[in-house]
Amino acid sequence: MPEGAVPGGTLISRDRGLLWHPYAPLEGDAPYAVLGASGTRLSLGAADGTQFDAVDAMSSWWSAIHGYRNPALDQALLDQAGRFSHVMFGGLTHAPAVELAERLTGMTPDGLDHVFLADSGSVSVEVALKMAVQYQLGRGRPQRTRFVALRGGYHGDTFAAMGVCDPVDGMHAAFPSLIAKQLFLPRPPAARLVGGELLADAGELAAWIAVLEDTVGRHRDELAGLILEPVLQGAGGMHAYAPGALAAARRVASDNGLLLICDEIATGFGRTGRLFASEWAGVVPDIMCVGKALTGGYLTLAATLCSAEVARAITGSPLRALLHGPTFMGNPLACAVACASLELLVSSGWQDRVRGIEQGLEAALAPAVSLESVREVRVLGAVGVVELSGPVDVPAVTRAALQHGVWVRPFRNLVYTMPPYISTPGDVAAIGAGIVAGIARVHG
Ligand SMILES: *Cc1c(COP(=O)(O)O)cnc(C)c1O
Repeated sequence: MPEGAVPGGTLISRDRGLLWHPYAPLEGDAPYAVLGASGTRLSLGAADGTQFDAVDAMSSWWSAIHGYRNPALDQALLDQAGRFSHVMFGGLTHAPAVELAERLTGMTPDGLDHVFLADSGSVSVEVALKMAVQYQLGRGRPQRTRFVALRGGYHGDTFAAMGVCDPVDGMHAAFPSLIAKQLFLPRPPAARLVGGELLADAGELAAWIAVLEDTVGRHRDELAGLILEPVLQGAGGMHAYAPGALAAARRVASDNGLLLICDEIATGFGRTGRLFASEWAGVVPDIMCVGKALTGGYLTLAATLCSAEVARAITGSPLRALLHGPTFMGNPLACAVACASLELLVSSGWQDRVRGIEQGLEAALAPAVSLESVREVRVLGAVGVVELSGPVDVPAVTRAALQHGVWVRPFRNLVYTMPPYISTPGDVAAIGAGIVAGIARVHG
């Protein structure tokens, strides 16, 4: 145990009943205590006092792409703290925010020229939806206030964001009167990586595109935008789909006066093997959300980018302003770490790293296919997914994987990994082996 650390068991008993954890009852399954984190390693303590040194297979929910205690990110944070930590963004600006916005407009697909800095992914989605409605207002179409989204999508936990999440697996049923009734398209047909291409069944794709055209065509006069996670749906089921569906969404949105909103919060910054997943279809959205890996997992920060046309319509409307402005907008510490993280990303040969992880995961997860409980194994970029035929026993699989030196956090019927980009071939092999062994031990 690192010197001065509080024993895991004590912390966990103080936590229980005091703190809410994500999507969990107040006294749900006991969490593990983090005693330390460095590189790709987490040092964890269990309620019974056991300690684990584990490879992190989760990048702390897609975010810690450079691993923990990265010297460049630590230094950026310290340097900025030595200047100033936070200042309001109303009426003020500062170097970290300006530099970050310049970097983001420079690296995202051409045509996304304006940046709104939000304090979490969900808020960036709220801002994106608001931008789309304000755009339509600016174009003299105040009746266009609804959205069309995909089944199986996930866009965050705030109310407007919840409204565009999957209507069955999302939280629509719990808050029926508070969630706007949006339109939903079926999940686009699944695609598999074959020789570097994401391929889907052509007939299924054509049928999906017909539904897209029909739905949007019939409702165009009430629709402000179409929102989706490009090519890979994350929290809604780790589902990779045909880039042709994304290209069709772009075309149909344009033809019908809707804005295309690409939620790249999970997929952005290289995770799928392209810097942004929109690039799989060569698509430039009107609005793009980024978050999660933006600060390398150090601090909460997200951004909503938009095209000049969107900005012009909003600014040209009687309201003129975009009606949003969080207290911690453009937080300088977060922006400074984000700049350092993006610099590290572009200078680190991320493409080779992600391709190496992809190949490593394909090899290391392959043995899962022969397990009785496993329905399918799929890999895209630095994302590996093992889908079981039934629900995962989350505490048991988590514990079994930890006993093999790997930290995973399964959900529903999925045990998945998105390793930090700094993972070595040995780390990736260990992650695959730990996942396979964990599933085998618990589910057979
Ligand atoms: C995580 C996620 C969000 C929400 O981001 P938070 O920072 O958790 O609010 C939105 N969209 C997608 C695709 C995500 O993966």
